[in-house]
Amino acid sequence: MLLQGDEAATLEALVAESGAQAVYWNRRYGAAQREADRALKTALRERGVRVESFNGQLLNEPWTVSNQSGEPFRVFGAYWRACLRRGDPPPPASEPERMIFQSLPARLTRRASKLDDLGLAPRAPDWASGLRAAWPAGEEAALERLRAFLATDLDAYAAGREEPGDAATSRLSPYLAVGAISPRQVWAALKAAQHAQGRDSARRAASAEKFASELGWREFCHYQRYHYADLAARNLRPAFDAMPWRKDPASLRAWQCGLTGYPLVDAGMRELWHTGWMHNRVRMVAASFLTKHLLIDWRAGESWFWDTLVDADPASNPANWQWVAGSGVDAAPYFRIFNPVLQGQKFDPRGNYVRRWVPELAGLPDALVHEPWKACVQSLAAAGVRLGENYPQRIIEHELARRRALEGYAKTAGAKGRTASKQSGRA
Ligand SMILES: Cc1cc2nc3c(=O)[nH]c(=O)nc-3n(C[C@H](O)[C@H](O)[C@H](O)COP(=O)(O)OP(=O)(O)OC[C@H]3O[C@@H](n4cnc5c(N)ncnc54)[C@H](O)[C@@H]3O)c2cc1C
Repeated sequence: MLLQGDEAATLEALVAESGAQAVYWNRRYGAAQREADRALKTALRERGVRVESFNGQLLNEPWTVSNQSGEPFRVFGAYWRACLRRGDPPPPASEPERMIFQSLPARLTRRASKLDDLGLAPRAPDWASGLRAAWPAGEEAALERLRAFLATDLDAYAAGREEPGDAATSRLSPYLAVGAISPRQVWAALKAAQHAQGRDSARRAASAEKFASELGWREFCHYQRYHYADLAARNLRPAFDAMPWRKDPASLRAWQCGLTGYPLVDAGMRELWHTGWMHNRVRMVAASFLTKHLLIDWRAGESWFWDTLVDADPASNPANWQWVAGSGVDAAPYFRIFNPVLQGQKFDPRGNYVRRWVPELAGLPDALVHEPWKACVQSLAAAGVRLGENYPQRIIEHELARRRALEGYAKTAGAKGRTASKQSGRA
């Protein structure tokens, strides 16, 4: 049963009506959530109710990892080495042997509803069929995905994880984002798989280490959200406040719809719209394209990803956007501007990924699929591609965009500014 309403008032009413003597919950890490949970804890304790909170979302609590001066780490490598020095996080708690469910107090039943009653799934129109097909929901589906990944794909992870045409990554992010599985469950299963016998141990060890460090990036994003309360709203490097971002709704729309004329970017944006997910390499290229080629504020991209990703996460999404834009801690240098053609040729050399999501280009030979504008009239005609008609011309030329981005960047005083101080600004 679900109860809707102001969370503190609803929980307090439930405690009062049911006579509960103890309340347990998983910790939340956003500044406003921490404040709300702290206030609720105090209110319930004042009424004699026992309250305990637990870590259900992270490998390490953010306040337990700091540098030698007691300050938060700003560089991922140093942060992650410090985490690894702590040893394995505690294993996940085992399932309770039995659960006794009480019926809801009578006065609250009229306010209760079942999940299906909330009508959350889109019906008219039903735009979510692609999402449903890609993502079976729930804890069992999450555990099954973890089992399948560790049993069959782990060994190839380190070598194959950068190629969007291969399903080499775990695709656990939506389940981690909604809490259908916890990182400690993933960590414990990974360690068990790592020590399984009869495998190519060097390949497996390299893959397991890489996969663990990706979980580390997730931790580092949550760590940033904990230490920088307004991660999604404010440049962590204040020098970026001077960046001359452009207002360009038509280009923003073309990017959102996968109609920029750059096949790898368009493939990614269409995969996102259709399945709610995008491969990490392509997320980086698409985000770089928005912030550098189009010079559009990273917050516009973050907001689109927030609306469309099934793994949308209040820590990983803004932290990665700031990383790509160059405004975050330990961010990619702003002047490193991805060339979407070279990225495509390197990570999707046969064009499988582009052909899947941009079928208009499927008939082009491998050598041209990432730069159809270089195809001769005969090749375009043979592939049925009519640039500007059934596939767009590039909305901006790469070299021109690169120069413009670097000029914009120069206005931020080289964006050398120090990182914002921790816990400042809005919640
Ligand atoms: C602009 C941008 C926005 C992003 N937004 C999100 C988001 O909202 N939610 C989200 O979960 N991830 C986000 N990511 C990170 C990353 O793209 C996804 O976590 C990853 O693609 C998920 O696929 P996977 O589960 O197969 O990853 P795997 O390669 O199998 O990695 C295992 C797990 O590690 C974590 N992870 C991997 N890479 C990262 C990373 N760079 N940052 C944080 N965690 C990582 C994820 O929880 C992932 O499930 C974003 C990346 C970029 C560049």
